[in-house]
Amino acid sequence: MPRSTVAIIHPDAIRYNFLKAKELAGAATVMAVVKADGYGHGIEAATDALAAETTRFAVACLEEARAIRQAGHRHTIALLQGTHESVDLAECQESGFEPVLHNRLQLSWLAPGQCPKFWLKVNTGMNRLGFRPDELPGVMTELGLAGFASQMVGFVTHFACADDADSDRTEQQTALFEEAVAAWPDLLRSVGNSAAHFRRGQPLFDLSRPGIMLYGGSPMIGKTGADLGLKPAMTLQAPLITTRVLQAGDAVGYGAGWVASRETRMGMVAIGYADGYPRHAGTDTPAAVLGRRIRLIGRVSMDMLAVDLSNAPEAREGDMVELWGSTVCVDEVAACAGTIGYELLTGVTARVPRVRG
Ligand SMILES: *Cc1c(COP(=O)(O)O)cnc(C)c1O
Repeated sequence: MPRSTVAIIHPDAIRYNFLKAKELAGAATVMAVVKADGYGHGIEAATDALAAETTRFAVACLEEARAIRQAGHRHTIALLQGTHESVDLAECQESGFEPVLHNRLQLSWLAPGQCPKFWLKVNTGMNRLGFRPDELPGVMTELGLAGFASQMVGFVTHFACADDADSDRTEQQTALFEEAVAAWPDLLRSVGNSAAHFRRGQPLFDLSRPGIMLYGGSPMIGKTGADLGLKPAMTLQAPLITTRVLQAGDAVGYGAGWVASRETRMGMVAIGYADGYPRHAGTDTPAAVLGRRIRLIGRVSMDMLAVDLSNAPEAREGDMVELWGSTVCVDEVAACAGTIGYELLTGVTARVPRVRG
């Protein structure tokens, strides 16, 4: 029998969260971001769940777009990083992938036979990728002269601080974007990661691009997905493989990282950092068993971790412990580990089977 450690993927939750994004997006069309293997849920599971709801998917790179075709979906797919090589543009043209071109090198690869429909990335202050607003008129003129302008779908920009309710940078980026592309009103405009959907009054223009919220993770600083009314799309669970009673003074795990101050019933759970559970999650990080919240004690090891069963004294070997899911939000675990839900969801390793539930 294989180990019963598993990530249960909930397609209904992905659909529910997508409809929530759609509601928040108002008049904008929602393009579902399924990069990084559907944020760790499996790109097939994510795209199957949304195939009937959305007309467009977005991924980071060509391999991910191929995987969506492999899963049998004919949707338009945006490649958020453009392509990495000239020849890839021919595949984009053939396969209906729309690269977001972000620099002059990528533009120089456009040629007859390798001119897919494409987007241009505008740098409004994130300063990762894209053309500055003052470069756009020149770029657009060149595209027109080269005969590629008719293949252009629209403009994309990306917000740096939409997750921070106290920052006004999103408003500044929005204004800069609107002004930068105003001369081409027939082209589409795409802004808006998940966080932008939760900012009141934020325009999302023609196409928004939510990712993390589709999986029930929070895009907002200081809030969990549950706080935002999202449903968790992944339940990460693993079995209790032993239980014992510690006496006051007994230590647990590597480095004797936690010492019992009184008699304590504890259990070992068959999951560790080699499964993608964060090693930085220390004592008091929440988990759940039998529907009750419990806590981690001591250091997470490669293949297992220890929990304090004081709150679930009847828990026995074989009972499943939820590491994150509907009782413990992934964002709570992330906060305890000094990271974000995105990293935990995308970091569940291949040793953990994904099953649809
Ligand atoms: C990843 C990504 C998104 C989705 O971001 P979330 O914060 O997960 O909603 C949107 N746009 C671009 C360009 C991205 O790279």
